[in-house]
Amino acid sequence: MEIHSFSPISIQSYSKTKEEKPVSIPIGINTDIVSFTGIHASKLTKMTEFMTKPLIEKYTIPALNINNMESAEAVIEAAFKTQSPLIVQVSAGARDYAKGGEKTFVAMFKTLRSELSKKYGGAADSVRLHLDHGEDFKVCKDCVDAGFDSVMIDASKHSFEENVAITKQAVDYAHKRGVFVEAELGRLAGVEDKIRVQSKDAAFTDPLEAAEFVRLTGCDSLAVSVGTSHGAVKYADDEKPRIDTRRLRKIKREIEKILPENQGKKPSDQTWRQFPIVLHGASSAPKELFKELNEFLVVPRKLTSKIMTQLITGKGNGEKIAEELLPYLQMAKSKGVPERIYSSVTGLVAKLNVDTDLRAKVTANIKKTMAENPTNIDPRKYNKAGRSGQSEIAAHKMEVLNSAGKSTGIKTKLDIQG
Ligand SMILES: [Zn+2]
Repeated sequence: MEIHSFSPISIQSYSKTKEEKPVSIPIGINTDIVSFTGIHASKLTKMTEFMTKPLIEKYTIPALNINNMESAEAVIEAAFKTQSPLIVQVSAGARDYAKGGEKTFVAMFKTLRSELSKKYGGAADSVRLHLDHGEDFKVCKDCVDAGFDSVMIDASKHSFEENVAITKQAVDYAHKRGVFVEAELGRLAGVEDKIRVQSKDAAFTDPLEAAEFVRLTGCDSLAVSVGTSHGAVKYADDEKPRIDTRRLRKIKREIEKILPENQGKKPSDQTWRQFPIVLHGASSAPKELFKELNEFLVVPRKLTSKIMTQLITGKGNGEKIAEELLPYLQMAKSKGVPERIYSSVTGLVAKLNVDTDLRAKVTANIKKTMAENPTNIDPRKYNKAGRSGQSEIAAHKMEVLNSAGKSTGIKTKLDIQG
């Protein structure tokens, strides 16, 4: 299949049963769509609506990373408790960490979503499973086959042409199976990349290139580089945290202009189709949270005994002990995206990724519990503390992103089969 023309129309012909009503085909789907079964097209349409709704209703969907059962429980429970839409993300690292790979997460996700939606009476469809940073076609294919709702193909480190080719391959495969695809264009430069502040702009996403990229690949959403970055330290000491919202607005508008459904229309038209932009590396990594994380030290007993002996007897080489102690006194640093600027992306960004804040909180709570209960050997005790910390962070993000309470109106019937 060579062509990449889009079908900005409602295809009414492939619907065979009464239940499978004609669906409006989302943008970014090539003409190959006619070979889809109705259920797949319908599944993709629903996910596209899920990703477009925040742009219209002015909230942002939190996309939170999970690595194990406790983190999955924490974020999913927070979503149902606050009635917030949620994207549960699994990174390549998390897939490697789990012995059953992506299948572990699908099984865990489905069970927890089903049980917790029953417990809290929430709309199950408002919680979705997504692959974060799929580095190649194979990873995306595995996750599509395993039952993910959405996958990210991140070929942004390659040339524009290669990025287009790799992304298009993932899009073609995923769309036939009703799975939504996020792609990335531009590089998320961080302080750790040793890029001078001024030259960070060079890695920012170009609006016209972004529109061309979406036209060529047919991807459903796009992660862009507009000032955020991965990790806890996103900005240099002398740098003011910022998101280039002007660029963000321009990227969104340029993409929307090329969408077939928008031809002959004005952005002010009711039927103007909005395109979901994604923001990665948007943790706020607040100082208070990192203070908690740095509050408790883990120092080997051998060393603490030495210090005690030195204090009591006054004997021993104090300087040498201090030197030995130094590595344990190091503190985790942070400079993230302040939450007060989240509101500046409302209506522009559909999905905002947070990982660092969750990581910092789970580690802080586990360290604290261990320090306060030195004789405890029950892993449930500290894991429970870690879980509740992550749930707190998740619920907080849902409030600040204005997504809390927004899951109402999303249909309760699961559209994911199996
Ligand atoms: Zn990312």
